[in-house]
Amino acid sequence: MLKIAKEELEKLIEKAKEGLKNAYAPRSNFPTGAAVLTDKGNVYQGCNVESVISGMGTCAERCAIDNAIANGEYCFKAIIVITKLENPVKPCGMCLHYINEFAQVANHDIAIIMAGSGGKISKSSVFKMLPEAFGPRDLGLNLKKYKC
Ligand SMILES: [Zn+2]
Repeated sequence: MLKIAKEELEKLIEKAKEGLKNAYAPRSNFPTGAAVLTDKGNVYQGCNVESVISGMGTCAERCAIDNAIANGEYCFKAIIVITKLENPVKPCGMCLHYINEFAQVANHDIAIIMAGSGGKISKSSVFKMLPEAFGPRDLGLNLKKYKC
């Protein structure tokens, strides 16, 4: 299991809760918050963003990753997802593939932390939840440009 320090976990939870507050989810009424911890130790938040156009929008996890990338960071130690449900919720399949993309960029596993509203936390990793996934390395893509 990937080691995440207590302070890092607290920061991830705090930022994911901020994301949860900002979620734009008028269709589903299922707000979701997320945050990623980068290899450099920075934390970027995200939230789900829906649209009146069916199928358009993004999950909180991908929003958090995109926020980090927009700030020039491509390598992540951990990602957390939080909802208002009491029990932790897992990332969707699309998000797992997205997280795997950046595990291949960083060349290491990424911890996935799932938090329920009541403080319940469940931990896993992208390699555990999506083993042998297709990614940029399968195409031999040059990822050196995206430094950690
Ligand atoms: Zn998702």
